[in-house]
Amino acid sequence: MAGLQDLPSVHEMLESERGVALSGVHGRPLVLFAVQRALEAERAAQRPSEAATRWASVEAEIDEVRRVRLRPVINATGVILHTNLGRAPLARQAATMAAEIAIRYSNLELDLSTGRRGRRHDLVASALSHLTGAQAAAVVNNGAAATLLMLTAHTKGKEVIVSRGELVEIGGAFRMPDIMRLSGARMVEVGTTNRTRLEDYAEAITARTAAILKVHASNYRVVGFTEAAGLEPLARLAHERELLLLHDLGSGALLDTASVQAGAEPRIQDSLRAGVDLLACSGDKLLGGPQAGILLGRAPLVARALGHPLARAVRVDKMTLAALAATLDLYLTQPSPALPVWEMLRADPASLRQRAERWAQALSAVGADVEVTAGASEVGGGSLPGEHLPTSLLPEPPVIARIEEGRVVLDPRTVLADEDEPLLRALRAALA
Ligand SMILES: *Cc1c(COP(=O)(O)O)cnc(C)c1O
Repeated sequence: MAGLQDLPSVHEMLESERGVALSGVHGRPLVLFAVQRALEAERAAQRPSEAATRWASVEAEIDEVRRVRLRPVINATGVILHTNLGRAPLARQAATMAAEIAIRYSNLELDLSTGRRGRRHDLVASALSHLTGAQAAAVVNNGAAATLLMLTAHTKGKEVIVSRGELVEIGGAFRMPDIMRLSGARMVEVGTTNRTRLEDYAEAITARTAAILKVHASNYRVVGFTEAAGLEPLARLAHERELLLLHDLGSGALLDTASVQAGAEPRIQDSLRAGVDLLACSGDKLLGGPQAGILLGRAPLVARALGHPLARAVRVDKMTLAALAATLDLYLTQPSPALPVWEMLRADPASLRQRAERWAQALSAVGADVEVTAGASEVGGGSLPGEHLPTSLLPEPPVIARIEEGRVVLDPRTVLADEDEPLLRALRAALA
């Protein structure tokens, strides 16, 4: 039996015909790394392998490092905004613009009309102002960053009043009390989980109060014996007492969700019109754009947020701004913007049923026991909690599906128009 002393050297392996060929494809440093790992494993196990086995583990090691891990999936869960699946798919125009800006230089911070330094936020500010009525706009990395920046720049070291019914956890580490602490503000909770009145806010105001914060209950709903103070009375109260009314709006819809039978999600423009001074929302929820956080409101307040050192730490990148600008342009130019998220929201139940029936036929043809049933899709992603959209379901083995009453169901709502064939291929393969 061969002993460890018979192991080839790293050099021998790299200079062998196979080693040279692999280096040609993967680059020498990666092959060197993989060869070292394979030899180490044999030494550790005190068992030399056959040369073929050794090369197989070298290649497996290379594959493991190089494998493309982030890749498209077919979302047949019916959940339109699914954080694990990347939230909003971009409109083609938005993706194209991002790619175009990514591979070239751009006037990211250069004002082409004056030749002076510009601000990246100004690339989308006028579109955002036009669409929402906000005096000024700023874009940061994500919604959580927008909320943190809003609070840090305006309430650090002061008191912020918030309802006990709105101390949300969005998921992961985003819990409103933690964000408040991180911002340096002192949170003053008022009311109860289910009821908070205007007087509760009024009674909590002190000389140290900087703002009233309203937080949208994005991913849950308090039903039954409930009461909450509306934005307009809160704005009046805040302004009488020379305080700011801040709003963590979460999803940030520009269009009316009630029009797609999905219940009402507050719109950005309604929040501002009600008297909110500054609001924070996400770019990749109902807005249907790239991951981003958007701050909208009164000009001096946006300017102060942008001037805070934290703004630099949560700065948005050029690809995001390019995609956001192209997304906003669809809102500016089309009454029903052709954005994937909104097309899914608007998808008509009869056409969804037709698609599900076509899938069922194709799968029955290969012997699958399938059935189309009526069901409901969810918006998800911290939008419209508890709201469901009528749809047709196909109980079937998964692509990325959801389980309902113990059965795998596929929801056509979130399967993009050009994914039917790949989906059916995957299903046929799984059934074969
Ligand atoms: C989603 C959400 C956030 C966080 O936004 P991200 O874009 O996920 O960072 C903050 N607040 C509310 C109310 C939300 O719904």
